Amino acid sequence: MDELRQVYLDNNATTHVHPEVIEAMSPYLNDLYGNPSSAHHFGRSVKAKISEARETVAQAIGADPSEIIFTSGGTESDNLAVKGYAWANRTGEKTRIITSTIEHPAVLQVVKHLSKTGFDATFVDVDSEAVVSPESVEKALGNDALLVTIMHANNEVGTIQPIKRIAEVAKEAGVAIHTDAVQTFCKVPVDVNDLGVDMMSMSGHKINGPKGVGALYIRKGVKIQPLVHGGHHERSLRAGTENVACIIGFAKAVEIRMANMEKIAAHTKALRDELQKRITQAIPFVRLNGHQDKRTPNTLDMSFECVEGEALLINLDMAGIAISTGSACSSGSLDPSHVLMAMGIPHEIIHGSLRFSFGYENTMADVDYVMNHLPRIIRTIREISPLWDPHKEKVVSVEEAAGGAELRH
Ligand SMILES: *Cc1c(COP(=O)(O)O)cnc(C)c1O
Repeated sequence: MDELRQVYLDNNATTHVHPEVIEAMSPYLNDLYGNPSSAHHFGRSVKAKISEARETVAQAIGADPSEIIFTSGGTESDNLAVKGYAWANRTGEKTRIITSTIEHPAVLQVVKHLSKTGFDATFVDVDSEAVVSPESVEKALGNDALLVTIMHANNEVGTIQPIKRIAEVAKEAGVAIHTDAVQTFCKVPVDVNDLGVDMMSMSGHKINGPKGVGALYIRKGVKIQPLVHGGHHERSLRAGTENVACIIGFAKAVEIRMANMEKIAAHTKALRDELQKRITQAIPFVRLNGHQDKRTPNTLDMSFECVEGEALLINLDMAGIAISTGSACSSGSLDPSHVLMAMGIPHEIIHGSLRFSFGYENTMADVDYVMNHLPRIIRTIREISPLWDPHKEKVVSVEEAAGGAELRH
């Protein structure tokens, strides 16, 4: 057995802060502490730096700097977009928000909350690969439609949605569209005009920036109400003295990730594809969750039959490997992943699902290391499962355990 390594494969949850990001932030936690709203030189120099950061973020998505609002992260951006738009644009008859069943809780829970406070909600289903079809969005667009909010890529399985087509469908019906692009921003090309979206959420800590900062793109002319009232910061849409160091760190991360986007995408995809191939070769009764091709390049979500995700997570963690699972308890709730359930995957298979999400720092040695441990751990856990026949190396009651899912062997 090889030496214990630290292998971080949970980059869809959060990422390592890039050293150049910390370096860029540091002066603004030290000498350059001015309030950007102050008229003296302490304030003015910081204000100029924030304008620069706004330009960097705007340029990365083909927007105008005046269309970027800095927030505390993806969650706040989603809240500001969906609540802010719903509150500002609701009329007597336009009350319906159309979303999907696989959104991040930062959208899903907002829409659920709004549906309890006078709005209506439609949760569009996805197919078995987690794709939202433009046709199903079109069908949901009645006279009462107020807003469409569909994520660009899913954080669990990585499936990238046909947002451009969905935006066209929304536009034809005269309905605004928001997309949560936290998992695609700076990972794959994202251009607000190409996509045709009216609002778009971004976050810093998923792209090697600091935690607690993000941005919302709001197309010129789109009316929204603030969540936080106070001073005139961020065009009066987000009151409060700016999180200066984090905004500057966020912009630095955007700069680094945009300059290296293709390189990092190719690198993480090569590692991801290799791990997927080797797992499929070495471990029987495994399936891929999400779309094989239309997927963020760093994401791999797989289900292993006859194993518990928690047991897998703990055993991998003991070997120094950090991943996440769609199984129940890890998410802090009693329910397994709402994304995998929406895809129609049977509960017992969801329980054995793992997400590996790669970052730019991962190497092929990390993939080797995972393959030195994962098959052994799965064999051990399967040996104590009542549904596993260790002699035949197969699931005992395939029909029961598989529930119609696609299986290998
Ligand atoms: C992480 C994530 C969020 C939340 O972003 P925070 O900055 O952590 O609040 C929202 N949506 C998606 C798709 C995410 O992956």
